Amino acid sequence: MSKIDINKLPEVRGRYTADAPLGEKGWFRCGGKAEVLFKPKDQDDLVHFLKNCPSEIPVYVFGALSNTIIRDGGLRGVVIRLGRDFSNIDVEGDIIRAGALALDANVANVAADHGLGGLEFLSGIPGSIGGAVKMNAGCYGTEVKDVMVEAIIINRDGLIQNIKPEDLKMTYRHTNIEADQIVVAATFKGVKESADDVKKRIADIKEKREQSQPIREKTGGSTFANPSIEDLTKADVDRDTKVWQLIDKVGGRGLKVGGAQMSVKHCNFMINSGDASAEDLEALGEEIRKRVADEMGITLRWEIRRLGDIA
Ligand SMILES: Cc1cc2nc3c(=O)[nH]c(=O)nc-3n(C[C@H](O)[C@H](O)[C@H](O)COP(=O)(O)OP(=O)(O)OC[C@H]3O[C@@H](n4cnc5c(N)ncnc54)[C@H](O)[C@@H]3O)c2cc1C
Repeated sequence: MSKIDINKLPEVRGRYTADAPLGEKGWFRCGGKAEVLFKPKDQDDLVHFLKNCPSEIPVYVFGALSNTIIRDGGLRGVVIRLGRDFSNIDVEGDIIRAGALALDANVANVAADHGLGGLEFLSGIPGSIGGAVKMNAGCYGTEVKDVMVEAIIINRDGLIQNIKPEDLKMTYRHTNIEADQIVVAATFKGVKESADDVKKRIADIKEKREQSQPIREKTGGSTFANPSIEDLTKADVDRDTKVWQLIDKVGGRGLKVGGAQMSVKHCNFMINSGDASAEDLEALGEEIRKRVADEMGITLRWEIRRLGDIA
């Protein structure tokens, strides 16, 4: 698949790999390869790469791949995977600074150890901080924009910027961060309280998740975003209706296409039940969207990112 000549890419201290497994490294454990994978050594190496990589080469970045389907034909361009240098978590007073590759759950735990509350919702999200900022991830009534102080983002041309949440247009599971902009770190503000209380809330979230979500399956979390109140009102559906209720109504719970299945436990979670391809997963999602559009008049918005070429 690789057409990019690695020898013509900027000389870096990190590592390039052609035709590197990508989809199979994600939570769904299926999907295509990256044309070229780049693991920068550190932030300077990343900036050097971005400044010198020809602008016609597409650049992508992923974290834990817990919200992404890479189509079976693979992703053309250079895919950046950040390394250990981007996973530090530091606390100063009520401010927590986390590298983009730090796992959300680790940030929640470190905050709790320091008696800082408000970030425990992150313990329920299995992605990285970079992915959480990009997706404005959230659960149980709190989302990243509520606790974020600023994000450090590197543009495609290598410019480093400190950006405030209000400049990222953070709405429900959405920001204006472009596909080739790279979050390298973010700071969050916690609220001083008893470490035991915060840890107790983290334990409660863990228990709730165990009971309601197929967290031990190969999944990508919520497949579709909840529809807006305007869309529900237009379709004459109760404004409190959640997307899983729409999926249930159209017979989506347990529905299968090839090896892909809508979870029986939580029908807005799609799972790879064994031998699914990325095509199976996407086809199943599109079947659900079609049914909900035809039967309820609501167009569902994919929350899971789908990128790359069809095989
Ligand atoms: C079991 C399960 C439960 C989940 N529950 C929730 C939930 O309750 N709430 C919720 O919001 N989500 C949930 N998710 C979805 C997912 O965990 C979040 O969206 C998470 O924030 C994605 O992070 P990631 O690192 O895995 O991102 P990836 O899947 O790697 O990428 C997702 C997007 O973010 C971009 N991205 C990743 N890293 C960076 C970076 N450093 N800079 C710029 N862009 C970047 C990617 O390009 C892509 O567009 C769940 C997923 C699973 C599997």
